[in-house]
Amino acid sequence: MNRIVSRLRPFGETVFATMTARAVEHGAINLGQGFPDTDGPARMLEIAREEIAAGNNQYGPGRGLPELRAAVARQQERRYGLHYDPTTEVLVTVGATEAITATVLGLVEPGSEVIVTEPYYDAYAAAIALAGATRVSVPLRADGATWALDGAAIRAAVTDRTALIILNNPHNPTGSVFTPEQLQSLADVVVEFDLPVLSDEVYEYLVFDGLSHTPLASLPGMRERTVTVSSAAKTFNATGWKTGWALASPELLDAVVGAKQFLTYVGATPFQPAVAHALDNEEPWVADMVAGLQSNRDRLTEALRAAGFQVHHSPGSYYVVADISSLGHADAAKFCLDLPEHIGVAAIPVQAFCDDTEPWRTKVRFAFCKRPEIMEEAVERLRGFAAGR
Ligand code: PMP
Ligand code: GLN
Repeated sequence: MNRIVSRLRPFGETVFATMTARAVEHGAINLGQGFPDTDGPARMLEIAREEIAAGNNQYGPGRGLPELRAAVARQQERRYGLHYDPTTEVLVTVGATEAITATVLGLVEPGSEVIVTEPYYDAYAAAIALAGATRVSVPLRADGATWALDGAAIRAAVTDRTALIILNNPHNPTGSVFTPEQLQSLADVVVEFDLPVLSDEVYEYLVFDGLSHTPLASLPGMRERTVTVSSAAKTFNATGWKTGWALASPELLDAVVGAKQFLTYVGATPFQPAVAHALDNEEPWVADMVAGLQSNRDRLTEALRAAGFQVHHSPGSYYVVADISSLGHADAAKFCLDLPEHIGVAAIPVQAFCDDTEPWRTKVRFAFCKRPEIMEEAVERLRGFAAGR
């Protein structure tokens, strides 16, 4: 008998857990779940060790250690010219995931609606369900080799029950980076209907080809309406540290704090000074890491094309989307279940992030955040696939 509550019943195991288990079972290279296989900046790691050794091992303040909140505020000011008060407008969370869940639980009444753009990251759907709200999914618009945010479609989805809009940019799983014009089309809707927005910017540093990241909060009228979420996971190769943050006006952030304090009370103390150091000092390390990712993206894209996939453009994130229809396959879910055993590579079907799976049925997400030699081996296996080996 399934004892899980009805509002969680539709979810089951996450697609990341399923595909990682398949990869482990078949010794496959895991280009499914997005996590890097190298460590973050050496000094950041050392500071966490020093903090533990020095006895910084008890609960910290509810909103996070002041030094991390101040470093996050400095990062926003330096990179984007956005001013946040570290005392009242920055909250340290247990990864971006907790920031997302706390934002939804703190701002969304049961019975209301939350707009997400499809494909959407799976944690949004679960948070909305936990809040007893309804997900209203608005598809991204195909735009050449990538996808675009469609402000008009989002406007059409707003009702008098809409409580929140969730944006993710740079975008998982498509690798899209939305243009300032597209973001403005969303901002117009948000201002017109005076709605709060959760802007998930965990891939804020991971943009390629000389592009730059535009925080939603930097657009007119958006600073006071946006809860911006980010984390150390993807910026500093520290997905296991689960150290993230939310930024918002006191009015919005107090609601997020209201939920967060009962989810975890606080996050792990010794990681926070280490992440503060990284935000202040490790941008050169991040720039090198991003250059490596861009070259991985190029190699993987080339290899997938040579193997007969049709490959979409990925200007950001850890991911590139490939289409399997040119290879005569019709269902990415089945394809991804078989791939670890058949060629020793794991990937994720994009339809796992969708309500209307049809347009995405033949799309597969490959992560390119592994060491170059591992990416080379994956490329070699994909070549073998192309040659029918
Ligand atoms: N949002 C998106 C779009 C993600 O891809 C991820 C995974 N890094 C998260 C949130 C969760 O981040 P964290 O590991 O910091 O909880
Ligand atoms: N964010 C990563 C991904 O999209 C990992 C997510 C997870 O394991 N929950 O692959």
